[in-house]
Amino acid sequence: MTIMSEAPDEIEHERVVIRQEAEVGLTFIVAVHSTVLGPSLGGMRLRAYPGGLPEALEDVLGLARTMTLKASAAGLDLGGGKAVMLDDGDVSRRQERMVAAARVIDELGGAYITAEDIGTTTDDMDLIARHTRNVVGRSEALGGRGDPSPVTAETVLQAMTRGLAAATGSPALDGRTVGLIGLGKVGSALARKLAGAGSRVLACDIDPQRVSLLADEGVIEPVADSDRLLARRLDVLAPCAAGGVVDARVAAALDCRVLCGAANNPLASRDVAAVLADRGILYVPDFLANCGGLISVAAEWGRGDDAAVEAHIATAMSRLEAAIGESLRTGATPVAVAERQALERIDTARRSRAAERLAAVA
Ligand code: NAD
Repeated sequence: MTIMSEAPDEIEHERVVIRQEAEVGLTFIVAVHSTVLGPSLGGMRLRAYPGGLPEALEDVLGLARTMTLKASAAGLDLGGGKAVMLDDGDVSRRQERMVAAARVIDELGGAYITAEDIGTTTDDMDLIARHTRNVVGRSEALGGRGDPSPVTAETVLQAMTRGLAAATGSPALDGRTVGLIGLGKVGSALARKLAGAGSRVLACDIDPQRVSLLADEGVIEPVADSDRLLARRLDVLAPCAAGGVVDARVAAALDCRVLCGAANNPLASRDVAAVLADRGILYVPDFLANCGGLISVAAEWGRGDDAAVEAHIATAMSRLEAAIGESLRTGATPVAVAERQALERIDTARRSRAAERLAAVA
């Protein structure tokens, strides 16, 4: 079954595809939020959704919008999109499902470019690349730049120093206590960087092996679960698992100065940002903190080099500094300022394209 809808308003999602293929047990959604700045690019998430298709749809729509903001904020000529494959626990048909998903992506004709995300890997992207060219995050053997997660960890780290500088007067990571939820591809790389910079890293993961690996190396101090971690006194909370971890109740009780992690949409709802601001907790906008992965895969797509990656990271960090600066002057939250900045760039592009079209027919 394929359901497609086209919306003229660029603020709304341009296109949403839901594909169900009973033969391979596939339930797959692609959300294209905006292609105003370029083709939409965003990872493919493989995870279980207890609420089924409606919950997955809500997730992918929100994530696609965040990708639009992220690409714009990093100065990339890309739009925002995202894909979600519902995980029913049947690992035996994983490869068949990846191939079926690749065909759906290919049918979109370049409007959506996929990459890895929660639950998907570089190997998955290599498999998908055999069935569509609209994929990045491939292995270096196939001409890709490999797993983008270490670059994501780098931008989270750089964003954290900006957040700390604004919240405490010093960007130093040495001697800080950072609470890290999720020790996956980004979280483990971030933990190593933080420990290397002299931070004390308290961390949890639902996968005990990931915890023990880093604890045995002396990189982290394990905490039993996220509830216990959220109750600790921290300098920084870094959510690096799924989104929605900070709701109004958590925000009202958090004992930290800065919230800055890799997770997309870590706030359960938009009004939580104001609760955090009222309590003096600086929320570093997720789409600026975690944009390194997108910058890395964008370089793969556009055949950019390491210098291009560095330049886009610098753009994103200067946008972050500007958003924090304006927030301090005006009282608006950094995320509200950063969203406005990102949307303005898209609006300007949309208007100039409309003006060009008018001039062409005049
Ligand atoms: P991943 O799947 O490699 O790691 C996620 C980790 O979180 C896993 O180890 C998992 O066991 C753990 N986890 C899940 N639920 C948990 C819970 N309730 N408590 C503690 N741990 C839990 O994913 P990743 O690629 O490291 O991405 C992490 C987050 O960062 C995601 O939200 C992703 O969308 C976002 N992100 C990733 C990238 C990237 O480059 N990989 C880029 C931008 C944003």
